[in-house]
Amino acid sequence: MARSPIPFFDLRSQARDLKGPLTAAWERVLRNGRYVLGPEVEALEKDFSARCGVSHGVGVGSGTEALHIALAACGVGPGDEVITVSHTATATAAAIRLAGAVPVFVDVDPSTWTMDPLAAAKAVTRKTKALLPVHLYGCPADLSSLRALARRKGIALVEDAAQAHGASYKGRPIGAWGDAGCFSFYPTKNLGALGDGGMVVTSSASLAKKMRALREYGWEERYVSSAFGWNSRLDELQAAFLRVKALRLKSWVARRRALAARYRKLLSGCPGIALPADAPGHAHHLFVIRAEKRDALRKFLDRRGVQTLVHYPVPVHLQPAYARHRRAGSLAVTERLAREILSLPLYPEMPAGSLERVCREVRAFYEG
Ligand SMILES: *Cc1c(COP(=O)(O)O)cnc(C)c1O
Repeated sequence: MARSPIPFFDLRSQARDLKGPLTAAWERVLRNGRYVLGPEVEALEKDFSARCGVSHGVGVGSGTEALHIALAACGVGPGDEVITVSHTATATAAAIRLAGAVPVFVDVDPSTWTMDPLAAAKAVTRKTKALLPVHLYGCPADLSSLRALARRKGIALVEDAAQAHGASYKGRPIGAWGDAGCFSFYPTKNLGALGDGGMVVTSSASLAKKMRALREYGWEERYVSSAFGWNSRLDELQAAFLRVKALRLKSWVARRRALAARYRKLLSGCPGIALPADAPGHAHHLFVIRAEKRDALRKFLDRRGVQTLVHYPVPVHLQPAYARHRRAGSLAVTERLAREILSLPLYPEMPAGSLERVCREVRAFYEG
C-alpha cells in the first residue's frame, strides 16, 4: 500500500476551508482603499485584545517587533538587562538586542520547559529592567511566580506569547498577566496571517499610547515625532484576513488540545520517549517529545514519510550571534533539551489516521 507522506503542518487545508470569507475580506479592503493601519486593524485590535481579557491591542509588523516595541515602551534601552530564556526562538533575544539591551539567559524548568522563576530571581541585578518569559510550544510559563518577582523588584513583565494564542494560566488568558503580551501572526502560528504581522496587548492605556507612537515614527500627532520611533505597522489586508481566522481560533485550539491528548494516550508507556507537560491552559502550538537517539528516530520517521522538526536545535546562548552572553554548559536543562526534543506533526486539520500512524512509527522505532 502506498503511504502518503504526513506533513508537519498543512496551511493549504486552512486556506481551502476559508476561501470564501478570505476572498470577501480581500474585496472589502479593496473597496475601502485603506491599506495600512485602518478600520480592519482597529477592529482586529479590539477583538484580539478582548479575547485576551484586556482593553488595548496594538497591531505591528511582526512578533519580533511586538516584543521590541513592548520592551521599548516599558523603558528598556541601552545598558539595561532583560532576563529571558535560551530555550526559545532566536527572535525573543533579537528583540532585546533591538531595544538596545542585553539578554540575560536563564535556564528553564525541567517539566514545563519555560522560565525557571528561581533562576530568574537569582539573575536580577541593578541593571535588570524586565523579565521576558516565553510560553514556548503554547505551554504557559509560571506567571504567578514571575509576576510576583517582577513586582517585588519593580521591573516589567513582558510575555512572549508568539506560540500561545488561546492559552491560559489559572483560567485567565496569557498575555493579560504581564505589563504587555506579545503575539506573532506568522502563518504557522496558532493564529496566522497570510504574511507577517504581530500584536501587543496590554491593560495599560499609557503603554498602549507609547506603543502606537513607536510603531509609526514616534508620532503622537501626524508628522510630529514626540519620541524616537520607526515603522512597524500592520497591513489592512492582513488584519482583514486575521479577523476571519480569529473566529476559528477557539475551535482550532480545542482541536490542537484534542490531538495532543490523543498523542499522549497513544504514546503513553512507549519506551525511549518522555511526553511534554500536560499543563492546564496549554494551547499546543507544537507537540514536542523528548526522545532517546533523537536524530536516529528523526531519520527513521523521515524514511517512513513522517515529517518532524526540532524547535530548536541550538539554544540561543550557543548561537554565534549570542554566544558572548553565556558559556556553553551553563544552562544544563536547556542544553539537554536541545539534544532530545522532537516536534511531531500537529495542526488543527490533521486527520486522526495520520496521528495514529505517527504513533505507530514512533513505537516501531523503539519497540523494534
Ligand atoms: C515566531 C516567534 C517569534 C517571532 O515572531 P515573528 O512574527 O516571526 O517575528 C518570537 N518568539 C517566539 C517564541 C516565536 O515562536
